[in-house]
Amino acid sequence: MKKQFIVIGLGRFGSSLTKTLVEAGHEVLAVDKDIDLVQGMSSIATHAIQADATDESVLKELGAGNFSHAVVAIGENLQSSILTTLLLKEMNIPKVTVKAKNIIYGKVLTKIGADQVVYPERDMGIRLGRQLSSDNLIDYIELSPIYNLVEMNAPAAMNGYSIYDLDVRAKYGVNIMAIKSNGEINISPRAEDKIQTGDTLLLIGSNEDISALERKYE
Ligand code: ADP
Repeated sequence: MKKQFIVIGLGRFGSSLTKTLVEAGHEVLAVDKDIDLVQGMSSIATHAIQADATDESVLKELGAGNFSHAVVAIGENLQSSILTTLLLKEMNIPKVTVKAKNIIYGKVLTKIGADQVVYPERDMGIRLGRQLSSDNLIDYIELSPIYNLVEMNAPAAMNGYSIYDLDVRAKYGVNIMAIKSNGEINISPRAEDKIQTGDTLLLIGSNEDISALERKYE
């Protein structure tokens, strides 16, 4: 379903977010106080407008209250982030996501009503660290602080074994959700399906259990 977003702050984060949302078929009103950044987004965003988002009358003029989701990607300036978030929440936008530099900023933003706080630098650091420290891990998505959805190269030691033989659910508490093989994806693998070198596995499990599985099959 097509959604309407207002994205405030068109630095590296806000602009790549805007582009991704538009490419996914959504409408985005992109706002920044820097005219050059606004012009850079004018051919990408549905609308791009130069404005100071800490000014309540400006936000009202933009009809910010009509959007179902706002993203505040202001970056370094905590004061502007706080003010903008506060104003957007006062306008009853159901969901306001705010980018924060660190946990302390995040706590403040949550206290004043941010529905979601994201820490792109921290998260990318963790993600890259996980990828670099493992030979087989391709990518992962954090489902909760404990559980991850992980994409990994099938370890050589699994070659030729079926899901039943490997029994990773009973042994490690990890579920094999899908197997990608020669460009095809099997989204409901059966116990007798065999894993081959070159396959990609999609796993769900706790960080600890997935690490234990990785170590075993290194
Ligand atoms: P990134 O790390 O994503 O590049 P930046 O901190 O460089 O983030 O970008 C933040 C953007 O937010 C800047 O382009 C800046 O002009 C914009 N910005 C900061 N304060 C306001 C404000 N009050 N209203 C609108 N845009 C703002």
